[in-house]
Amino acid sequence: MALAIGVDIGGTKVLAGVVDEDGAVIDTTRRLTPGHDVAETEAVIADAVSELSGRHQVAAVGIGAAGWIANDRATVLFSPHLAWRNEPLRDALADAIGVPVVVENDANAAAWAEYRFGAARDCPVAVMVTLGTGIGGGLVVAGVLYRGAYGVGCEYGHMTVVPDGRRCACGNRGCWEMYASGTALARDARELADISPVAAHQLMKLADGEVELLTGPLVTQAAREGDPAAIEIYTTMGRWLGRGLANLAAVIDPTVFVIGGGVSEAGDLLLAPAQQAFSESLTGRGFRPVAEVRLAELGPQAGLVGAADLARRRH
Ligand SMILES: [Zn+2]
Repeated sequence: MALAIGVDIGGTKVLAGVVDEDGAVIDTTRRLTPGHDVAETEAVIADAVSELSGRHQVAAVGIGAAGWIANDRATVLFSPHLAWRNEPLRDALADAIGVPVVVENDANAAAWAEYRFGAARDCPVAVMVTLGTGIGGGLVVAGVLYRGAYGVGCEYGHMTVVPDGRRCACGNRGCWEMYASGTALARDARELADISPVAAHQLMKLADGEVELLTGPLVTQAAREGDPAAIEIYTTMGRWLGRGLANLAAVIDPTVFVIGGGVSEAGDLLLAPAQQAFSESLTGRGFRPVAEVRLAELGPQAGLVGAADLARRRH
């Protein structure tokens, strides 16, 4: 059975794993992402791959990175969390790694993994929405990962949902990810703590009384523990999620939406309001088949599983 290595490069850690043809991860290793240094980051990736390929014979390596990846699947045009600007990542790693390397957008890789092995198995048109720091997007149509003409499609997070709305890191205003993401969770919780310490007392307890320590994962934890303030923040966010999905459905008409990323760990607290807002906003509602909205199945390893599978299939 041909094995491949998938590498998921996050803002804080590099996670690498050996993946078999059924999408099972049979070995992993991790490193810290070395800040913003291009050469050091590449050395860390090569080191993680070399550790794993010392223990397993692998046919290819897939790298999943946040950012705009050119459709040569070799060049990182721009990465928001790392220092890569027009970086020929595949060629920079090729000598050190010694087997074929493919570079993919991390959200595309996760979408492919859910299509091949997870919640979107056997779905002809699958849209993946990953709710992390921002929103990652992917689309698989009839067994093909859709990348757009230049490799930079499916950036759903930067659809404008509120004209002149909140300022986004991309420079525009009112982008979807400013209303539905881990960043939005933390921001809403901090706003609540500023305005109403009474309503936010449970959240503040989890954050040791420090507003700056109120993060998205803490809001998720509070919501799962039943804190009404955190649940309300999730309900509001779920509605934004559902409205955005209705916009996507108007264009793409998918079989299924798969919702992943850390924010989705709240499960039905997010999905129920999302489904309600989705069905209330969907164009042609009542007179059309409706896409299913499902939670992702592969968890935080989706990116590396997808990157490995895409690399194996390419070579
Ligand atoms: Zn934006």
